Amino acid sequence: MDRVAKGEAVRVTQRVPVRTRPRAGLRAVFWAALVLAASARAQAPFSFDSTFGRLPKNVVPLHYAIAITPDVASSTIRGSESVLLDFRQATDTIVFNTLNEKLEHVLLDDEPASSVNAEDGSQRTTVMLSRPAPVGPHTLTFSYSGRIETRPQGLFAQPYTKSGGGEAQLISTQFEATDARRMFPCWDEPAFRATFELTATVPADWSAVSNMPVARRVVDGKLATITFQRTPKMPTYLLEFSAGDLVAITAQQGATRLSVWTVRGEEKNGATALANARAILGDYNEYFGTAYPLAKLDSIALPGGFSGAMENWGAITYNDQNLLVWPSSTVADRQNVFSIQAHEMAHQWYGDLVTMGWWDDIWLNESFASWMSAKETDLRNPDWNWWEAEDADKEAAMQADARASSHPIQIHVTDELQAESSFDEEITYNKGQAVLRMLEGYLGPDVFRDGIRRYMKAHAYSNATTVDLWNALSAASGRDVGHIAASWTSAAGFPLVSVESHCDGEGRRTIALSQKRFLLRGADAVPSHWNVPLRIRSGVDGVPQPVLLTQDGQSLEIGKCGDTLTVNAGSIGFYRVRYDEATLQTDTRQFSALPRADRISLLDDQWALVEAGSEPLASYLALASALGPRLEERAWAQITSALGTIEYAERARPEHDAFAQYARSVLAPLAAKLGWTSKLDETPGIRNLRRTVLKDLGSWGDEQILAEARQRFATFGKDRSTIAPDDQEAVLSIVAEHADDATFERLHALARSAADQTELRRYYTVLMHVRDPQLAAKAAHIVMSAEIPLQATSERLWLVMELAHEHPLLAWTTFTNNVDALIAPFPGFANLILSQSCPKALWDAAPPEELEAWIRAHVPAEMSDNVARGMETARFKLEEKKALAQAADDYFAAQPPRVPRSASDQIVAQRVHTAF
Ligand SMILES: [Zn+2]
Repeated sequence: MDRVAKGEAVRVTQRVPVRTRPRAGLRAVFWAALVLAASARAQAPFSFDSTFGRLPKNVVPLHYAIAITPDVASSTIRGSESVLLDFRQATDTIVFNTLNEKLEHVLLDDEPASSVNAEDGSQRTTVMLSRPAPVGPHTLTFSYSGRIETRPQGLFAQPYTKSGGGEAQLISTQFEATDARRMFPCWDEPAFRATFELTATVPADWSAVSNMPVARRVVDGKLATITFQRTPKMPTYLLEFSAGDLVAITAQQGATRLSVWTVRGEEKNGATALANARAILGDYNEYFGTAYPLAKLDSIALPGGFSGAMENWGAITYNDQNLLVWPSSTVADRQNVFSIQAHEMAHQWYGDLVTMGWWDDIWLNESFASWMSAKETDLRNPDWNWWEAEDADKEAAMQADARASSHPIQIHVTDELQAESSFDEEITYNKGQAVLRMLEGYLGPDVFRDGIRRYMKAHAYSNATTVDLWNALSAASGRDVGHIAASWTSAAGFPLVSVESHCDGEGRRTIALSQKRFLLRGADAVPSHWNVPLRIRSGVDGVPQPVLLTQDGQSLEIGKCGDTLTVNAGSIGFYRVRYDEATLQTDTRQFSALPRADRISLLDDQWALVEAGSEPLASYLALASALGPRLEERAWAQITSALGTIEYAERARPEHDAFAQYARSVLAPLAAKLGWTSKLDETPGIRNLRRTVLKDLGSWGDEQILAEARQRFATFGKDRSTIAPDDQEAVLSIVAEHADDATFERLHALARSAADQTELRRYYTVLMHVRDPQLAAKAAHIVMSAEIPLQATSERLWLVMELAHEHPLLAWTTFTNNVDALIAPFPGFANLILSQSCPKALWDAAPPEELEAWIRAHVPAEMSDNVARGMETARFKLEEKKALAQAADDYFAAQPPRVPRSASDQIVAQRVHTAF
């Protein structure tokens, strides 16, 4: 499933982690309505018979012919089905999945069944025959009735506001992981691959889309009956059907017809997605070495409701915010569109052509699509610096994985029905992606690609396990990849690599390396061990040297004393590094000369070590101050995020002003260099950096920045073209933070007059940034009011979380008072939101005991591990807030007196403003 939104979201990770991936985030774990056992099973290559599953394997579907007539007015489905079955043993019992369906006229080979027992509790139907049927092919036929859902699970209806006004509905499907059974009775487990021939009867003025091209369309009065061509062998969760007043724009790429489908009136906004799809398909055909096998690939933009994207084979569904580009869209929106398309299209191979045998291996499905998407996004958009941007996701994964309560990437799934899983975005998607990148770096990109090609060829139209992938990579590389990879996927956490340097009399340097698990708090109960693929660079111009760290005390001679040393060169590894004091001082002194990515890895690690309480704050601030006015967006995003975390901790303390002044002084040279106006040759990252810097300076009390933002907002009120869509959020947020009643009313009027969904989300988000408590209460009231349109109801949750930046208590009361309405748009993972996202975002709203008691009262007992994870984060953040405030106080108490605040501000302001 889906993937990332970046941009502005990156820098809030330290403060409100829940929104690291806005909109797309929670959808990303939609499939995860699964119960997972605490440890991974030993795994073997895929075999149908030994693959875990809940349905018996003695009767196997080969082909489904399904005919449905959905009636939106009555929310019902009438259907009939004919399933060609292979009886692998003689039996009188057939078991398959159903939910909320009533079967009639059940026949096997035209003979009536003796009984049909449907159980919605276990989501299974058992058909008993009057006598055992022999081994061989048999045909099961029946008619049935079912439901059209109101939420995105199974076949669902989606109401929306038409572009010309007025309301309409369309229907679409969302099946992963276990909701195909809501639309039609089936063997709803991924190892049961079969072919499908879908027929649907819908209003004649509707268009209909499914995995395959239309084979025939017969109109009878006001209804049309559409039959789609037969699919390849595939699992049920990849079947797709959408219908409504939909229109398409189309292009050809090689042998494949590409279309972007939208509701009528929006099709012009699909042009970017269509161009993206052409580029991505060409690249993937080449990379995978197996061409995309279907005649067409549709991308379907659904308005609202459904909040991510789903990789149905040949018919990918997207929330329209993740596929369409409006004139009001920002570069971050375009990046979001490209990277989500690249993720879903990677699944057409990894997931669709080759499917995991059981849900245990979903991590690799998602990690692989995420890694491939990052690689492709970087390839096609070199000026986006995409791998640097991905560093923020890696950091989010490391934050999560540095908790004692974290879990391995790979966990055995025992029951897909009862509750939400322990899988979360940070580990399942981000850590997995980072581990794959580290492996690719270790094996080399060509060898890694050859392994992937072997894997695709060997398992096409079939299933596979993680072991199958490691075996393919081992065959391609001649190394035991499983041996290296297993320590990363089967155990929680990651190593802190400690470095001790020694010099001989001639200045030659020897380093000794050791490892232990990195935890933000506490110690590892059971010592962990990893095989760590290091890349070590000595000297600022040195070529990284690959070293596999397998033993404690491992040593090597590298470079000269006095040269810089980077043990995670390029910031590719999923580990942290702690240097001995002398090496850290050398690296700090020459910080601005280090390669760019090495600077990022040093900043990331040193900040994490400060957070863990094992390095002094001063060691990090020395690096932050040493960067100078270099225009490096990721390094600065790291620094502004860390400074923002300290600023939050210092609020309402006597030293706050001293810190704010210090933080402004760190950004001042950069602000002076950037000015307010973007230049034609700037990358999107530099433009984003400018917005971040101005916004933080405004937030940290720079009066000149505030005055300029207010001036720009006043002009914007008269002429909306005066602030580019990309810059609106930053300028309006500065104004909103300091808003009075009249300004709030103007911002609210702006939100109400939003021209499209993109503006609507942007302007309502800005409204949540007000600092005045009474205005914040108004903002909270607005979020829950009817003025939020139908297709934006899922945004309410994010808006409430956004409010938590400035008003945690208000966010908490709004959340708890409206919890049912806020989580209703997220069926299947409400418990995950409550147990993990809620404490992560609202940690500062209530005492942890109160927070935990409320959460435990609202989730089932089997979510206990998830609650423990969420609460460990909440408690850590509370502790960290106290510790950082104390550390910052101590740091400033020890500093010499600074330039008086007003004078310093004037200097900063002059430098910023002369640079326009
Ligand atoms: Zn995915």
